[in-house]
Amino acid sequence: MTSLLETYAAITGNDVIDHLRQLAKPLANMKVVHVNSTRVGGGVAEILEKLVPLTNELGIDAKWEIISGEADFYECTKSMHNALQGNRENISPELLQSYEQTNIANAEKLRPVLEDADFVFIHDPQPAALINHCPNRHGKWIWRCHIDASHPYRPVWKYLQNIVSHYDASIFSLPAFAQPLQHPQYIIPPSIDPLSDKNIDLPPEEASQVYRDFALDPDRHLIVQVSRYDRFKDPVGVIRAYRLAKRFVPDLQLVLAGGSATDDPEGEIVVREVREAAGSDPDIHVLLLPPDAHRTINALQRAADIVLQKSTKEGFGLTVTEAMWKSKPVIGGDTGGIRLQVVNYHTGFLVHTPEGAALRIRYLLHQQQMRAQIGERAKNYVRENFLLTRHLREHLTLLVGLHYESRYRIKLS
Ligand code: UDP
Repeated sequence: MTSLLETYAAITGNDVIDHLRQLAKPLANMKVVHVNSTRVGGGVAEILEKLVPLTNELGIDAKWEIISGEADFYECTKSMHNALQGNRENISPELLQSYEQTNIANAEKLRPVLEDADFVFIHDPQPAALINHCPNRHGKWIWRCHIDASHPYRPVWKYLQNIVSHYDASIFSLPAFAQPLQHPQYIIPPSIDPLSDKNIDLPPEEASQVYRDFALDPDRHLIVQVSRYDRFKDPVGVIRAYRLAKRFVPDLQLVLAGGSATDDPEGEIVVREVREAAGSDPDIHVLLLPPDAHRTINALQRAADIVLQKSTKEGFGLTVTEAMWKSKPVIGGDTGGIRLQVVNYHTGFLVHTPEGAALRIRYLLHQQQMRAQIGERAKNYVRENFLLTRHLREHLTLLVGLHYESRYRIKLS
């Protein structure tokens, strides 16, 4: 039977898989636990879904645990998230208490597995305080920040920094996001899984089914943004860009496709704002998709002439990677992780405003050959830099480095 790992060889080549096996050897049977706050919705869940089974296949004992809490907890962690991305958020003592209490309650449940692990990856602020309640931990704890923390709101960062300083290491997606911390910091950008339902090639009839499902016209231009309904993703700015572009390209349709992550309490409010902005325009399709609509999102991204990700802050933007992997030109906000992926004029376009996005939409829709060229370069760029196998390789390298301490580590600073 072909192993999961071997199925990736068809895309990456055998050497990549052999390299992973080699790196995993010194970590055989070690226990790794990942903890985040949702199993579905959002980029972290998307990554862990495959990273964990692949780590297991390499002979490492990897687990994925989630923490859960009440509405107050998610309100607090959403504020932390927004504050790390630069918003001024004054979080009340009551909400902070709910944060602490939720971490204590979850530590009660998870303590045996966390204290027993050789490596614990804690993703984002939600479960960060677990470390304070696992006094007998013996492994290395790594805080993995997926957020654009380049200019955090200081009071909230100070609070989190107190917690994060207990970790053995942290990981950020871009050098610009790293923060003053006493422990080693690693830069590891996220990745997509080319064999997941979200990214795999679809049979033509399934790909075209989305036109019927959402009453889209296959003979007209289609622009798509896939995102949680979150203001940092600027869905209202996308509507504005569409309207500006439509003055010059009348046969234009827009799909905004999103759902909400279970740990994101703001989604409903933002959906209302988006619906209001869309008004009664029959060519704007605001879709609320269930969390497992991976193949539908795949088909929408493939159906698009152009994919937008007009975020004003973006930790990485897996939706950008997903679209680029499907050879789509992406028009992205000039921010955070989008900059890492969209090389302006080469693998897509970076923009600052709805006006800028509209200009690029117009330009690309009139330049079919350019769309195809950019799309091809985008796909190659993802193949070389942002596939799961590279991500796994960097995780393994980090674990080997942490486990064997400084004996084999070359310090660059
Ligand atoms: N996604 C999804 N359904 C939705 C909206 C988003 O499955 O309704 C997926 C999207 O395809 C991507 C991930 O969730 O894989 C979002 O990751 P990204 O890094 O773009 O943003 P985040 O939500 O983590 O801020």
